[in-house]
Amino acid sequence: MFGKITLSIIKPDAVKKGYIVPILSKIVHSGFHIIALKMTELSKTSAKKFYAEHKNKLFFESLIKFMSSGPIVSVILQKENAVKDFRILIGNTNPIHAKEGTIRNLYASSLEKNAIHGSDNNQNAFEESLFHFSNREIFFK
Ligand code: GDP
Repeated sequence: MFGKITLSIIKPDAVKKGYIVPILSKIVHSGFHIIALKMTELSKTSAKKFYAEHKNKLFFESLIKFMSSGPIVSVILQKENAVKDFRILIGNTNPIHAKEGTIRNLYASSLEKNAIHGSDNNQNAFEESLFHFSNREIFFK
């Protein structure tokens, strides 16, 4: 699986705006297979753990409040070069700089409320997948 999966989160802003289906549709039409999926909520404690690398950033508290503000959809996606290809599909962190047609270009509201998460390397994809799902919740193809 290493190198062939990535972990995505449809963030609270996109869930609230009704973008779950259009986003998943775009992902699947781009060649990714869904091997685990759930609608859930992050507690503040879980959000802090998930974004621990940003704990010293000025935006950390705001990001934690946002990520625990409502339902999210967590998804493990499988594809060759999943991490790299998915980062291309979602676009730049800041939607102002995201290329036309990318998920963040189409569905993000702001730099913070940017609709979707995608792992940034293979090790994180693996660890983030186990953060969100137990082994029995993952269906390998
Ligand atoms: P990503 O890998 O593209 O999601 O970007 P980062 O790992 O750098 O940041 C994690 C998340 O923090 C982003 O997706 C945004 O939701 C949020 N974020 C990043 N930079 C900023 C910022 O400068 N201000 C605020 N308010 N949020 C930010």
